[in-house]
Amino acid sequence: MSPRVVLPAGVSSTSFERALAGFQRVVGPAYVLRDPAQLLPYRKIMIPAPEDEHEPSAAVLASSLSEVQGVLAVCNRYKIPIWPISTGRNLGFGSAAPATRGQVILDLKRMDRILEIDPVLCTALVEPGVTYQQLHDHLKDRSIDLWLDFPGDGPLVGPVGNTLERGTGRTAYADHFAHACGMEVVLADGRVLRTGMGGLPNGTCWQSFRYGYGPYLDGLFTQSSFGIVTKLGLWLMPAPASYRTLLVQYGRDRDLAAAVETIRPLRLRGVLANPCALTNATHMLTAVTRRAELFQGTGPVPDDLVLDVGRQHGIAAWNATFSLYGTPEQIAPNLDLVTRAFQSSGGRVSEYRDGSQANELSLSAFSLLDWVGGGGLTWLATVSPARGTDAAQQRDLARGILARYGLDYLARATVHGRDLHHLVAMVFDRRDLTAMQQARDCFRELVAAFTDNGYGVYRAGIDAMDDVARSYGDTRREVNRALKRALDPNGILAPGKSGIHVGGA
Ligand code: ADP
Repeated sequence: MSPRVVLPAGVSSTSFERALAGFQRVVGPAYVLRDPAQLLPYRKIMIPAPEDEHEPSAAVLASSLSEVQGVLAVCNRYKIPIWPISTGRNLGFGSAAPATRGQVILDLKRMDRILEIDPVLCTALVEPGVTYQQLHDHLKDRSIDLWLDFPGDGPLVGPVGNTLERGTGRTAYADHFAHACGMEVVLADGRVLRTGMGGLPNGTCWQSFRYGYGPYLDGLFTQSSFGIVTKLGLWLMPAPASYRTLLVQYGRDRDLAAAVETIRPLRLRGVLANPCALTNATHMLTAVTRRAELFQGTGPVPDDLVLDVGRQHGIAAWNATFSLYGTPEQIAPNLDLVTRAFQSSGGRVSEYRDGSQANELSLSAFSLLDWVGGGGLTWLATVSPARGTDAAQQRDLARGILARYGLDYLARATVHGRDLHHLVAMVFDRRDLTAMQQARDCFRELVAAFTDNGYGVYRAGIDAMDDVARSYGDTRREVNRALKRALDPNGILAPGKSGIHVGGA
């Protein structure tokens, strides 16, 4: 029996076969994958959507800029949609799968060179396949005292994919896009754009000054389908002389608002060097136990039970963590200030260990997936003003909707500064079709409710991109579409990414 062939939308099987032959000439036959078994890693998703909806037709593994250009030439000729990935994890947002069925994956993991490290200016220039672990090891092997900032799934993923999605981490460099400097982008027609200072023939500042001259373009290539990023400049954090990581615990759920009111001014005045993350008790419990060990009933685990079991493990209703970095002399007065501020808002302050705030990569965040088991995960990533009232409203909104679908509220509210990122993990058993459908319906309702209340979603999975894009209004969509048509008239690059399609009104 011949394997089932998935074709890109609107592409005949003759064109598709010709395109595959073209890809083979560009990257070599071994790097064009089309057998279902070879495509499994690109098909496997955690989000609550059937795999068929996001099934790729093939994968092409390019190893250089010129191969990327060659692949694009083939795509333009045969109108083949191509979905670029770097390390291809994007867990809980769609993994390596494309937004729409039938796209060809352009896997850039073979482009994994660390091209430059400048220990004086504290910068790096990397290719898409570089992982945080690889960069970490590279710096360590050379005794270069620079720290990395990485997301929860740190060791497995890389700075290019995460920065392009505007991901965040836990140190003073937590906003990854704000600490990126200079991109090399291959446009759909194969031209190569170097952003910022990168266009100067003998440029010396590509990784040190972000803006160059004229419109600042880098943002156009994040959460977008306007180009393929083949190099990215990064700013790295000089290792601090010392640091103290602290935990502040609030015993009651309603203390969330007071905690946020305490953190914001400390952040805005620069007393707290990194964003302060408030994690709720259920989320913390995923590190020490599983849902089934606590509760076999239906609906979310009852609050009293969560708090009771939490107490046995030293977990409170809300658990804030942050670090102070610097010399002991710099840290001492800030430690005093924060301790007094937190205590006066009812928080209990203690020392804490958290490698993610101190350049230590780990896989510990994955315990979240064991809470229910079955491999389902989707993130509700929303943003609000960093005000106590908004934090409380978001919490109540999310918890109420999740409860109606029988799901636990696993939340982290991170005060970055003026904004608060409210990241809710929805975990479910993906093997159970009813549970998956429930999670899907619940997620849609959450997006709609948050939008109605003026809280936007700042990052979305491949199954939710259209809904979220619509929530930002018609003009924004029209401008995105105009840019798309100008930069990618054949619509070959990642159609549907961030809700941007070439066709349509
Ligand atoms: P990670 O493995 O770090 O989680 P991915 O490599 O999965 O990140 O990338 C996340 C998303 O970012 C991809 O699904 C894709 O839409 C986009 N992306 C990744 N790499 C590139 C790139 N080099 N150029 C353009 N877009 C990219």
